[in-house]
Amino acid sequence: MSHVFPRHMKTHPPKAVAGDGCYLIDAAGKRYFDGSGGAAVSCLGHSDAGVRKAVKDQIDKLAFAHTGFFTSDPAEELADMLAARAPGGLGRVYFVSGGSEAVEAALKLARQYYLEIGQPDRRHIIARKQSYHGNTLGALAAGGNEWRREPFAPLLIETTLVPACYAYRGQAEGESLEEYGRRTADELEAAILKLGPETVMCFIAETVGGATAGAITPAPGYFARIREICDKYGVLLILDEVMCGMGRTGSLFACEQEGISPDIVTIAKGLGAGYQPIGAMLCSNEIYGAIEHGTGFFQHGHTYLGHAAAAACGVAVLKAFEERDLIANVRDKGAKLRVALESEVGQHPHVGDIRGRGLFLGVEFVVDRATKAPFDPSLGIAGKLKKAAFEAGLICYPMSGTIDGRRGDHVLLAPPFIMDDTHVDEIVTKLSTAMAQVL
Ligand code: PLP
Repeated sequence: MSHVFPRHMKTHPPKAVAGDGCYLIDAAGKRYFDGSGGAAVSCLGHSDAGVRKAVKDQIDKLAFAHTGFFTSDPAEELADMLAARAPGGLGRVYFVSGGSEAVEAALKLARQYYLEIGQPDRRHIIARKQSYHGNTLGALAAGGNEWRREPFAPLLIETTLVPACYAYRGQAEGESLEEYGRRTADELEAAILKLGPETVMCFIAETVGGATAGAITPAPGYFARIREICDKYGVLLILDEVMCGMGRTGSLFACEQEGISPDIVTIAKGLGAGYQPIGAMLCSNEIYGAIEHGTGFFQHGHTYLGHAAAAACGVAVLKAFEERDLIANVRDKGAKLRVALESEVGQHPHVGDIRGRGLFLGVEFVVDRATKAPFDPSLGIAGKLKKAAFEAGLICYPMSGTIDGRRGDHVLLAPPFIMDDTHVDEIVTKLSTAMAQVL
């Protein structure tokens, strides 16, 4: 009997024993193409020599020194690299161990910033309906994923939810994408006015939506309008790029493609690429300055923040991206994968939408393409697709995001940035095999 407390107690996953490039290998020797990077984590595959060496070398020198006492070379180097590459003014980097921690830090920083500048009434969080920001209580409260929130609702701080920019579901007939984006962004303004602008602390959104409905890309102009609204009412804009950041959508930060800069951005997953648990929150110099010149102390922290071996890993990951021009490969393979998906599975009667950016692609499954009606949730289509794909040797990430109060079925593809053209065919062939069994 295993003493591990697993996620799913009624299933018994195989044991992963090795990684080889884009593949994971189980104890029976079966190879799985990692088509989702776990959940958009393994951007360098599973056996990157440079990252492994960097982590080992760092542990040989210094594994950990508590940030209450020390800083370290790798933490300084990684912060310098991120700040130099981040969009305008995000000059300070706060390290954590993962995505939920990054979001918790962002929310607490937003609150403390307003306390420091003498606006203690600002406490409301506005977030989006189709969103996921993590599983700890603060991050869960800030997310709109209903089935994840529901059991814990009595423990969650109140959050106001506005619709996400989800064109497949929200765009009205005869409305252009730009008009839809503007109309959806304006819902934020309406929510701010309803709550009272002087009480609103922040708006948090994933730049490209991930774990709730699968690679939902913003409409053109949506985030520019969001930025305008946040500026108008002095509301902090937090972009959660835990999943879509670190090159996944074809630029290091996904918001670069929106032409805006947030006040705070969170990253994780791809930063450690699965070789170390690490995340970060980057904030504007203005926010940092307000605290530096105020109490001079961010009232937050975890034991492992700024972990030296994890930071060394992040440095090696960023160097790998640049030395091997991997983000260009994300754009190239992403475009090819999308074309292949559209031509091979796009016409399937139960495929409603194929969307995404770079190597961050989502497929939404529906009963009927014309009505876009989702499957009955009791059928568990996304879960069955995950299982069938796994049997066929493909790891893909199933999602049951909420659509009008019901769970819909989506599959997210987020393969490693090191994939080549042959992998495009492998993903599509194996996904088609799974679909043929389930749909
Ligand atoms: N934010 C986003 C956008 C995510 O997709 C996730 C995880 O999927 C998180 C936060 C939480 O990250 P973690 O699971 O590392 O705590």
